[in-house]
Amino acid sequence: MSLVSLRELSLEIEKIYSEMGEVFSHFQQQSNLMCLPQCGACCLAPTVEASALELLPLALYLLDEGLAPETLDSLKEPPPSCIFYKKLNEEGSKGFCGVYQKRPSLCRVFGAGARLNKNGAKELSLCKKIKEAHPAFLSQDISEAPLMGLWKSRVRNLSFALSIHDQAINLSLKEALEKVLLLADLETPDPIKPIDQVS
Ligand code: SF4
Ligand code: SF4
Repeated sequence: MSLVSLRELSLEIEKIYSEMGEVFSHFQQQSNLMCLPQCGACCLAPTVEASALELLPLALYLLDEGLAPETLDSLKEPPPSCIFYKKLNEEGSKGFCGVYQKRPSLCRVFGAGARLNKNGAKELSLCKKIKEAHPAFLSQDISEAPLMGLWKSRVRNLSFALSIHDQAINLSLKEALEKVLLLADLETPDPIKPIDQVS
C-alpha cells in the first residue's frame, strides 16, 4: 500500500465521518439528548477504543503538520487515556477534544445512539451523564435513533486489513502513525548528491 492510496482511503473515511456527524448530531438535537456543557468525562476512560483505520485521517494530518514523529515519541509508553484530551479542570470531568475534526468513530457516536439487543430489537444506548440529565429519556421515540454499530462497520468495510482489531485509542494511533511514517520515509527520494561525491 502506498501513501497515495492511504490518502485516498482517508478521504473515504472522512466522507463517512461527515455523514456520521450529521446523523448523530441531528438525533441528539431532535431528541434533546445532548451532552452536558463542557463535559468530556468519557475521553478519560481507558475504554475508548478504535482501529488503526479509524485513526488514519488523524495520522495523516499529523504527518502533514510535521507532528507525527513527536506524537509517536509521546506514545512510546502510552498513557491509559487519550493523549488528545484537553482537561479544563483538575479531575478532567470538563475538557475538550484537541483533534475534534479527526476523531475516530466511537468518539462520534458515543453519548446518544442506538444498538440492537439480543432479540434484535433497537434500544437506546446512552451515557450515564446524559441519562441523569434527561430522566425522560425512557419515553423517547427511538425509531430515528441511529445504530452505532452500523456506522462503525461502514468504516470497517473500507479496509479489513487496517481494522482487524479495536484497541485502546493510543495504541491504534501508534499503529497508524508507524504506518504513515514508514511509507513517507520509503517514498521520500534520497537527496541528489553533487557529482564529485558520487563514488
Ligand atoms: S479523540 Fe477526542 S473525542 Fe476521542 S477520546 Fe480523544 S479527546 Fe476524546
Ligand atoms: S458522552 Fe457523556 S460523558 Fe461524554 S461528553 Fe457527552 S455527556 Fe459527557
